[in-house]
Amino acid sequence: MINPFAPRGIALPASHQLVVTCEHATNHLPRRYALLFADRPQLLDTHCAYDPGALELAKRLSQRFSAPCFTATVSRLLVDCNRSLGHRHLFAPELDADERAALLRDHYLPYRQAATAAMTEIVSRGATVLHLSVHTFTPWLDDTERRADFALLYDPRRNPEKAFCHDWLTALARLAPGLRLRRNYPYRGVADGFTTALRREFPEERYLGIELEVSQKFPAASGDHGWQWLQEMIGRSLATAGWGEKD
Ligand SMILES: [Zn+2]
Repeated sequence: MINPFAPRGIALPASHQLVVTCEHATNHLPRRYALLFADRPQLLDTHCAYDPGALELAKRLSQRFSAPCFTATVSRLLVDCNRSLGHRHLFAPELDADERAALLRDHYLPYRQAATAAMTEIVSRGATVLHLSVHTFTPWLDDTERRADFALLYDPRRNPEKAFCHDWLTALARLAPGLRLRRNYPYRGVADGFTTALRREFPEERYLGIELEVSQKFPAASGDHGWQWLQEMIGRSLATAGWGEKD
């Protein structure tokens, strides 16, 4: 069966609905917090403040597959939308109790609740959510190179996620043989995150929570095998990965 939400020849099974989220989409600081990092203005342009390239890729996948896209509205420097309530690194340590409450009310909760509601609605219709949480990672951390270009994070104990990621990475390796592909790297798929939180809400046959991790060397690159090319390869491989349209 052809998914009516899938445009132009892309065949996702009708029982699966894609939802795209981007927890580290922006380095935006609302005005009331602007002075917090005034002594470190360069921080706002680094991976500490947001995931460079992630928003562009999230929007591109959302458009290609006609899927809803939810994006965080504030920098992770203030509140990290990929952390659960109570996580010790949820907030910037400089924030007082009023500021923390305001960030939850104005940014964190509206974001998480809107995305969760969309997925709950899909599951309540008897369909299955394919949740893609789009991130990028810095290729160098503390003088250590992360040896990967693209990775998928999932829970290895949930067979639908494991099988889907296997199919997707196989399709991508066929399309782009030079890419360094990894699973559950540079983080474990079961570490705290939005997908990990949602796995507690939905059964494995109704919810596949996959975190994409793309090296930030790509958004900074151009040319033959640069950022535009990689985004196209990711979208094209997703269109064929276990979703009915095998080549
Ligand atoms: Zn991220």
